[in-house]
Amino acid sequence: MSPTLTTHAVVNPATEETVRTIDLVGVEETDAAIAKAVEVGPAWRGIAPADRGRLLRRFGQVVDEHLEELAQLEVTNAGHTIGNARWEAGNVRDVLTYYSAAPERLFGRQIPVAGGLDVTFKEPLGVVSVIVPWNFPMPIAGWGFAPALAAGNTVVLKPAELTPLTAIRLGDLALEAGLPEGVFTVLAGKGSVVGERFVTHPDVRKVCFTGSTAVGQGIMRKAADSLKRITLELGGKSANIVFDDADVAAAAAAAPMSFLDNAGQDCCARSRILVQRNVFDAFMEQFEAALQAVRVGDPGDESTEMGPLVSSGQRDTVRGYVDESDEPVDVAFRGSAPEGKGWWYPPTVVLPKSTGDKVWREEIFGPVVAVLPFDDEADAIAKANDTAYGLSGSIWTKDLGRGIRVARGVEAGNLSVNSHSSVRYSTPFGGFKASGIGRELGPDALDAFTETKNVFFNTND
Ligand code: NAD
Repeated sequence: MSPTLTTHAVVNPATEETVRTIDLVGVEETDAAIAKAVEVGPAWRGIAPADRGRLLRRFGQVVDEHLEELAQLEVTNAGHTIGNARWEAGNVRDVLTYYSAAPERLFGRQIPVAGGLDVTFKEPLGVVSVIVPWNFPMPIAGWGFAPALAAGNTVVLKPAELTPLTAIRLGDLALEAGLPEGVFTVLAGKGSVVGERFVTHPDVRKVCFTGSTAVGQGIMRKAADSLKRITLELGGKSANIVFDDADVAAAAAAAPMSFLDNAGQDCCARSRILVQRNVFDAFMEQFEAALQAVRVGDPGDESTEMGPLVSSGQRDTVRGYVDESDEPVDVAFRGSAPEGKGWWYPPTVVLPKSTGDKVWREEIFGPVVAVLPFDDEADAIAKANDTAYGLSGSIWTKDLGRGIRVARGVEAGNLSVNSHSSVRYSTPFGGFKASGIGRELGPDALDAFTETKNVFFNTND
């Protein structure tokens, strides 16, 4: 094996201190890991379903035993609040536990046909690659590797350059739980090296990618060469629609954390708010009070609700949309953020002039929300859908019929009425339009990690 090509200094976003320097693997190490995943594949898929389930359950238990360690690692590496980071490590445990039941429930069908018995099998694909972004390093890794492993695939996983530490640790914990070596391998490396190799390597049968729309499009183009299966979970610019018949106070109170969670670096962030014109002023007044109360600061403090951005580059991107934009941006109000070391940016509410403004159209991926009024139900749906994206969204109304009509009318994969919930491991998650292709999580997740095989048995003499 060749020596590693480069190193990467992992930096704490709240203090700008280097936490650890890690080796980045190159193409040769990637090829060796894929070869190992191919080699151990038959043994892994040959393990009895109940035993494969037991191993995944054990993996979940080991994650649980290291929950605090993993959470602290994410606070340090990604600047996540400790409350969020504990939830994220717990989510890996829960997703492993949920899919540990799947090997014994990987049902095919028996289809009535003439002259014999027809059955279908769900066969594993082989080697599955998972490419993870920096915003939710643990959960997004788990949503890929847990169902992929449950279906009998072997997995190679690449964390984002900025946030490799929890994924590397999860790779160790898999071995500690008893997963055979090579079944699940974490490769910290560059997207242009390891990620690209996952897409071009002939033995990798699927790329499960979460990240930006532009990189996802490139992966889709390259995957066509070998007809690789793909799942793409991409960007978002989700709408939070507040009708005049809603509990406006509740909608205003919930609005800040719908786009400030993870400092706005959330593909499901409700980064566009649409408020019915006759309650606009009342909403904004209560929204401002709620936003000013959000606690921004040390992510390790239990009471903190929002931490720093992940990198100076990400903060530059956010500033480029607001403070240093080539378009004039009308800031309605802001919250507070610490001064000094750390990549802080205050919660910020902007008022675009029209739906054509960049702050309204583009994914900023920071603690910035744009607010516009609308006139009626049809206008709300039209404005919500006037976007390239379609990942998530919320509807606030007390009118049940309206809640159903608007939920059906908004072109997005994950909607909630009178709440901002998006992701539960037991329900499907994914995007319409430029937000992606395919679904993760939920009861059908293994469909994305298996091929259906139909077999006819002749029962005639
Ligand atoms: P990114 O696209 O820059 O990187 C994502 C991953 O892809 C990283 O691991 C990166 O190293 C790798 N990569 C980069 N170039 C590659 C290439 N040419 N081939 C293969 N892999 C490559 O995204 P990011 O900046 O890390 O994450 C932010 C983006 O992710 C946002 O747009 C956000 O909306 C999106 N996101 C989507 C979801 C979802 O579920 N829909 C969830 C989280 C984040």
